Amino acid sequence: MSAHTSASALSVADSPVAAPVADGRINLVGLSRAELEAEMLAIGLEKFRARQLWHWIYHRGATDFSVMTTLAKPVRERLAERYAVVRPTVVRDLQSRDGTRKWLLRMPDGQEVESVHIPETDRGTLCVSSQVGCTLTCRFCYTGTQRLVRDLTAAEILGQVMLARDMLDEWPAPPDGRMISNIVMMGMGEPLFNYEEVAKAIKIIMDGDGIAISKRRITLSTSGVVPMMKRCGEELNVNLAISLHAVTDELRDIIMPINRKYPLAVLLEACRTYPGLNNARRITFEYVMLKGLNDSPADARALVRMLEGIPAKINLIPFNPWPGAPYERSTDRAIQVFGDIVNNAGYASPVRTPRGEDIMAACGQLKSDSVRLSAADRAAMERIMAEKDAALG
Ligand code: SAH
Ligand code: SF4
Repeated sequence: MSAHTSASALSVADSPVAAPVADGRINLVGLSRAELEAEMLAIGLEKFRARQLWHWIYHRGATDFSVMTTLAKPVRERLAERYAVVRPTVVRDLQSRDGTRKWLLRMPDGQEVESVHIPETDRGTLCVSSQVGCTLTCRFCYTGTQRLVRDLTAAEILGQVMLARDMLDEWPAPPDGRMISNIVMMGMGEPLFNYEEVAKAIKIIMDGDGIAISKRRITLSTSGVVPMMKRCGEELNVNLAISLHAVTDELRDIIMPINRKYPLAVLLEACRTYPGLNNARRITFEYVMLKGLNDSPADARALVRMLEGIPAKINLIPFNPWPGAPYERSTDRAIQVFGDIVNNAGYASPVRTPRGEDIMAACGQLKSDSVRLSAADRAAMERIMAEKDAALG
């Protein structure tokens, strides 16, 4: 695909850094503390071994039992016979001119997903995928043109974070100034359609004895899977981002077919009652700027009106184009006028700067199987979208 061979994109590595085991050993990554304890007891080891392992796996980033020197050698050997600490395999490693880095990762069954690291001056954000593809078909989203292949497991979601730490050489992570200080569930897939695995992974990411990224620094983005929102707030209490993108049901039905199931009034009510909201803790409303479609001053005013009474932030995302996309990015002028209206209503710095566009790493550009869009590919893409829409009802 052109994005992967573009002259501006630097290909850092093409070979695997860690091959997953295919020898029947159990992967310890993704087990909860209780599950890890149960494993230890099951092989006749003491329960506290789980705590030691947790430290090595999630604080030190160890992938090899032989380095776990707080465990006696026979114990290490015993563990290595039965268990492994698995990472996804890096298939492609691309670096953008602006420092953004995208990894195409292969899972043990050959499925591929992408994660993206976005460095900023005061922090670094890792954008993590929750599914291979997506069941939804938001018209502006490249992932939406891909079939849902499967949900990712908690191990595979966590594996993305751990692999990124390997690549950025951040084990153990310092308390401040981390390269990966924030996590956004904004990669491929709809996290609330894979809630159990996502929740399990996030709980491990938040654990203070391991990866230790606080819930304040984790954001889950949803297209609006209303029935799962309350549980997400109660159990995980992470920041919530809503992909809103339209101020009328008429338009949202078209660009985000999930709106036919959970229309705006229902979605906004679920936002209003999201647990733990206050002025210091707001919902982020994402709004992709599509030329001539949702970017008028009247839309901006309607957006502001619509969010009245909800502790909210607004994030305007200039549309990131992809091959064959049916829309265009709003003009700079339209974005500025829209942004000023939102800003004057009291929402600070609402426009998000696109990052990693030269390596197709920007919002909504992730898609694992590389395609050059021929007429046949386009027909295939439309067929997949029609099938998925029909399944949504
Ligand atoms: N499925 C989840 C999370 C992944 S998408 C969701 O839809 O919220 C992360 C964000 O990128 C969402 O707000 C999504 O609507 C937005 N997005 C998708 N395609 C885009 C594109 N081409 N340009 C800009 N933003 C896009
Ligand atoms: Fe799926 Fe989110 Fe893309 Fe919609 S915007 S198709 S929900 S990944």
